[in-house]
Amino acid sequence: MHVRALTVLQNWDCHTCGDCCRSYAVPVTAEERRRIEAQGWEQSPEFAQVPYFTQRGGAFYLNHRDDGSCVFLGPDQLCRIHAKFGAAAKPLACRIYPFLLVPAGDHWNVGLRLACPSAAQNQGRPLTEQLPEAREYAAFFEATATPGTLTAPPPPLHGTQRLSWSDLERVATAVSRLLADEADPFERRWRKILFVVELLKKATFDGGGDPKKAVTGGRLSELLHVLSQAAADEVPPRAADIPPPGWVGRMVFRQLAAVYARKDHGAEKGLAQRGPIRRLRAAWRFATGRGIIPPVHAALPARVCFAAGEVPFGPLSQAATDLLARWHRVKVESLQFCGAPNFGLAVWEGLESLALTFPAAMWLARVLVAGGRTPDAAVTQAVRMADDNFGFNPLLGSVRQKFALRMLAQRGELPKLIAWYGRTAP
Ligand code: SF4
Repeated sequence: MHVRALTVLQNWDCHTCGDCCRSYAVPVTAEERRRIEAQGWEQSPEFAQVPYFTQRGGAFYLNHRDDGSCVFLGPDQLCRIHAKFGAAAKPLACRIYPFLLVPAGDHWNVGLRLACPSAAQNQGRPLTEQLPEAREYAAFFEATATPGTLTAPPPPLHGTQRLSWSDLERVATAVSRLLADEADPFERRWRKILFVVELLKKATFDGGGDPKKAVTGGRLSELLHVLSQAAADEVPPRAADIPPPGWVGRMVFRQLAAVYARKDHGAEKGLAQRGPIRRLRAAWRFATGRGIIPPVHAALPARVCFAAGEVPFGPLSQAATDLLARWHRVKVESLQFCGAPNFGLAVWEGLESLALTFPAAMWLARVLVAGGRTPDAAVTQAVRMADDNFGFNPLLGSVRQKFALRMLAQRGELPKLIAWYGRTAP
């Protein structure tokens, strides 16, 4: 299977910041364990009495030191395994991060996690120049995938409605175009997409079994074009034209913002995540939305109130808008927003879950600005925090969160939340 690049210009290279080596619990296979054990680390004084691995629920992970960093991270922020034996000697999870490979029928789509600082800041070589490395990772997955994984059908649109992989990519292309439309402020781009999604939810694509009536291929592209045009006419131009979210919408949204704000492991683990009583207290505070925001992530400022998340910090700069557009276009074009990479969500629900990361990131950015960051720095940090959880925090795949997402969509709260947290003036 070939590896398909993104059309959005995304750059990346490792700048050896060591952030990922301090952030994640890295899984290791039995073969990787054997390889690392044979590397002779027990002869280095840094490894006296230090186990290389920890075990949780039957799975093995790289061990972390007291400061949250991987046992193999050196004081120069470089991986000792990489420095001594080369990149190929590291566990695959370390080598592949922050790439993502999403199987899409006869090819792989390349995705990227913008939780990585270099990816969020678009620093490095274009991803198009890195396809040979991506191909190498793809070959590994092809050799080790459980039977059926790579030939799985595309995720349903909703219910039993399904498109082919190529038609699903037509939908992704249309959504990516709307996200790139610089004529609109970023928040309106998402309101237009949700308008199109609402109409598409009512459509049937298979022509009721009659292939002549099926909406596929060129016909589907035409339909998507017409609906995008209709969105330009029908969707109110200004965020101020949209009523604010209702109290149910705000309460459910705060629970979601709590998930996108949190860090449960590594050096940036929030103080409020340490111990069940603190966790419970933090969850209660997010439910009420009153008082000081609990420190669920080390990057959150101390002593900033929930009210700060409701205060806009002015218009988004071009750099911040470009970052938001790039982030979401990467998620859409790689198809990371639905199916297996996003907790099995159907296509329309997956788009809605991605749409909600915009108000969540803007809420976070407002809080970070209140803590003293510049708006651009705050948006970059907020995107990194939200992307760290999107598609990865198992809480987002829980029955409760899926129900909450459905409820927000059914009550018409999504465009309201997007406009509310996307507005630039009180
Ligand atoms: S093994 Fe190396 S690359 Fe992987 S987390 Fe540890 S220090 Fe980082």
